[in-house]
Amino acid sequence: MPAIGIDLGGTKVQGVLVDAGEVIGDAKVPTPAGGVDEVVAAIGDCVDRLGGTDKVAGVGIGAPGVVDAATGTVVMAPNLPGFAEPVPLAALLADRLDGMRVAVDNDVNVSALAEHRLGAGRGSSNLLGVWVGTGVGGGLVLDGRLRRGPGGAAGEIGHVGVTSGGRRCGCGQDGHLEAYAGRAMMEQEARRRAAAGTPTLLVELAGGKRMKSSIFAKALEAGDGVAVELLDEAVAALGMALASATALVDLELIVVGGGLAEKLGAGFVGRIEQAVRSRLLVPSSPLRVVPASLGDLTGALGAALLVEEPAAA
Ligand SMILES: [Zn+2]
Repeated sequence: MPAIGIDLGGTKVQGVLVDAGEVIGDAKVPTPAGGVDEVVAAIGDCVDRLGGTDKVAGVGIGAPGVVDAATGTVVMAPNLPGFAEPVPLAALLADRLDGMRVAVDNDVNVSALAEHRLGAGRGSSNLLGVWVGTGVGGGLVLDGRLRRGPGGAAGEIGHVGVTSGGRRCGCGQDGHLEAYAGRAMMEQEARRRAAAGTPTLLVELAGGKRMKSSIFAKALEAGDGVAVELLDEAVAALGMALASATALVDLELIVVGGGLAEKLGAGFVGRIEQAVRSRLLVPSSPLRVVPASLGDLTGALGAALLVEEPAAA
């Protein structure tokens, strides 16, 4: 039976209708800025545009921030207006959809699930999906099942330590992977170096605007010193964190996606693989590091897969 998947983002609500792993319909609506009721209504609208719930097994939602998948509650999603406090999203949406089954999980977890079932991770049982974008997110699949952990925070690879002290992470602690490999933190560091007297193409190209992933790609291509150094540091930090994760749970596959990774391409993923391999405890490990393969609809596809995924894991 088909399922509906919803990728709830800060700017858009992307929905897909999925049957036997194939996208057979898609719809999107803007994410409203007026709070929880409006967001629930927008998701309901998106479901209607996909044909409603008459012939579907359920609706899955990938939401940003901290999610309690067991209860379908978005605990905290700072990028969504009205979601700073816990929101029982599954229950609210089930009401709107006449009692339809609704499952909710973190957007990165559902993306890892999608790559595992339908993308670059097909056939593997133990994989980590790493999303290198504004921040660094991760989703862990062990023995073929999404691992959430008792606190719902399993797989948060962006917040493992890669050095003692070191740069301040977005979460407020020091020395985390995200402080070295997340685009927002790399932007901060580039601006700090420019202000301290090392000019960089990164700041020249971005001006007062956001330093997009494409700007990192351009500056890198031009051989900009600061861009090269920041990327070297990002690769080294990813190598350290991912080799540690592999030592802990013996991964067979690491799937790398996210905006920055996509813009920098297969060469970036290859460098990460080298950095990981150089640090592996067991050099003959069958571990592979590969680019994510599902593209823009990954989150919505993974959300649809949630409908068949047991919530407690
Ligand atoms: Zn952190």
